[in-house]
Amino acid sequence: ADAPDDPVLAGLNPQQRAAASHGDGPLLIVAGAGTGKTTTLAARVAHLIREGADPSGILLLTFTRRAATEMLDRVARRLRGALGEAGERAARQVWGGTFHGVAARILRVYHAALGLPRDFSILDRGDTEDLLDLCRGRLELPSGGARFPKKAVCAAIVSRAANSGETVAEVLETRYPHLLQHEPTLRRLFDLYDEAKGEQNLLDFDDLLLFWEALAADPEAGPALRSRFPRVLVDEYQDTNVLQARLLKNLAPDGRGLTAVGDDAQAIYSFRAATVRNILDFAEHYPAATVLPLETNYRSTAAILTVANAVIAAAAERHEKTLTATRQIGPPPLVVRCKDEAEQARFVTDRLLELRDSGLELDKQAVLFRASHHSLALELELQKRDVPFKKFGGLRFLETAHVKDLLAFLRLAENPRDEISTLRCLLLLPGVGRSRAAKAVALLRESNGDFGSWKELAAPGGGVAEWKAFLDLMPLLAANREDLSSQIRRVRRLYRPLMEATYDNAAERNRDLEQIELLAGRGRDRASFLADLTLDPPSSAAASAGPREDEETVTLSTMHSAKGLEFEAVFVLNACQGGIPSEQAEDDAALEEERRLFYVALTRARTHLTICHPLTRHLKRHGLRDGYGFSELTPFLTPEALAGCETLAASGEAADEAPPAPAATVSAADVRAAIRARRG
Ligand code: ATP
Ligand code: MG
Repeated sequence: ADAPDDPVLAGLNPQQRAAASHGDGPLLIVAGAGTGKTTTLAARVAHLIREGADPSGILLLTFTRRAATEMLDRVARRLRGALGEAGERAARQVWGGTFHGVAARILRVYHAALGLPRDFSILDRGDTEDLLDLCRGRLELPSGGARFPKKAVCAAIVSRAANSGETVAEVLETRYPHLLQHEPTLRRLFDLYDEAKGEQNLLDFDDLLLFWEALAADPEAGPALRSRFPRVLVDEYQDTNVLQARLLKNLAPDGRGLTAVGDDAQAIYSFRAATVRNILDFAEHYPAATVLPLETNYRSTAAILTVANAVIAAAAERHEKTLTATRQIGPPPLVVRCKDEAEQARFVTDRLLELRDSGLELDKQAVLFRASHHSLALELELQKRDVPFKKFGGLRFLETAHVKDLLAFLRLAENPRDEISTLRCLLLLPGVGRSRAAKAVALLRESNGDFGSWKELAAPGGGVAEWKAFLDLMPLLAANREDLSSQIRRVRRLYRPLMEATYDNAAERNRDLEQIELLAGRGRDRASFLADLTLDPPSSAAASAGPREDEETVTLSTMHSAKGLEFEAVFVLNACQGGIPSEQAEDDAALEEERRLFYVALTRARTHLTICHPLTRHLKRHGLRDGYGFSELTPFLTPEALAGCETLAASGEAADEAPPAPAATVSAADVRAAIRARRG
């Protein structure tokens, strides 16, 4: 089975082959960007199945659901070559997805073992904040002293504790020392929050992992789970956290069947409690571990790799990896000075179209940026010039109020114990206030989720028709007999006038809701539809429906959301101080993470890399005068890195010229002083 023409291991080099066909012992592949880690992992899954592993006993854990789908397509292609259609079918049985997505699926199957009702609802981060807020209302807050933290901070603290394995006190000490005095109150709040979730049959994102871990660690249920899923493979291991590492340890205590791949130089999620220690300590946690390197980069040209390597070589921590480029020919990376963000947008658009005209489809081009709002000028320019694009990362479609409203009706129907959704629906209705809503919640609880119990309540003045329509709608939805898209249509009919009364752009919002109806399609199960939307929300209405099949689109993405991907041409926006590194990176550790993030961005490029640097930037976000500030080139482009680049001015002026004077109303020093002053 190891012949060079073996379709399962086709196209792999000897190192990759060794990794893909490694036996059952714990395996870690640590290797740089573009060395084929993901490719090798997919080949390994195909290899395991060909060697007789039950595909439905394989867990393939990735950072996004899209990544899992793509990998499983590759597994299917490899197996098709070896086993024909049966191979393709087998690939589809693998359990692939994010940690959270797979957790939800496992808990739907094994809920009974934990005494958990099967139909639990899943809270997203926003819901978590709302429920914490609700619980906070039941707490007596200490008077005096520092103000009690806002709901977003409370949510961050409780989630941090879950993911890092620290106590609340430890989280406060290391990350929020100014809130230490609130520790006892916060602990009570979190207890109330857990109780509420229990009563309302809700799990938040962290619970999904914690419950899965509890199941895996259980002396009775654990062994059954392990024999059901004897093989676990994890991509992007450098971005897992303590909780995930503990979970893996429980799924495979001695590491048998466990494969992890990652790159410590690309660790970019410490703000979500990810720790690169997982990768560094793998061999310690699993003494039987084999650690294999991969050293050939197949993605980027030598010119790009030289610059990326120079960027990461300046990191405080050494990421010792020898990377050899296989692609020798290609233009040097361009560093482009632009007058401002508008010129940057025009330059990037010109260049995108130029590349397209020379034969490089828009699909193979991407624009990457540190923060979602960095692309606004570019989005306007692209729209103006009719260039279609998809945007990833940033404000989520599901976080918009009207989308949350629509989904609240479905979630309420699915789980009448869900208080957040109940309140959300009720408070939308004209004439319904807090006290009536509270009464309605109580009635629903006492009647065990019977919407008929609301008939006892008098219709609110000024909203009789809406109230009646709502009372008619809910039992219908609760029965869940109609097709999901018809249910959504009913909700939209009720909601439309309410939306029109609230928002002036109701027509636009209505189109989003239309997209949700389309997304639900035919024959979708409501519970799994809601769980999927919560766990893997589309980043925009357009992304949720997918662009027209025949349409080529350029990808706009935050650097975080681009990890693992590759493009023929990559444009990096705002490669300046305050752009990347972000102005929010305040200590050395945060700066190092920004450096790795910049490295991730550069290593997405296969052939063309263009790094843009606007000389002036709008600095409204600093709370300064609404003006422009001079912005310096990012320090991550060290002289060594710049030596490998060609520099150019977008306007065609000499690259060394000063920025046009009138645009700058503050100097870099002013900006720094203002940032310092605001930090207090
Ligand atoms: P990242 O760290 O960015 O996630 P990676 O190590 O996962 O990168 P892949 O995405 O698997 O790398 O591979 C990078 C590119 O190299 C892909 O286009 C892949 O098809 C190609 N590739 C991988 N291995 C080989 C090989 N042996 N021969 C030719 N091309 C290869
Ligand atoms: Mg990868």
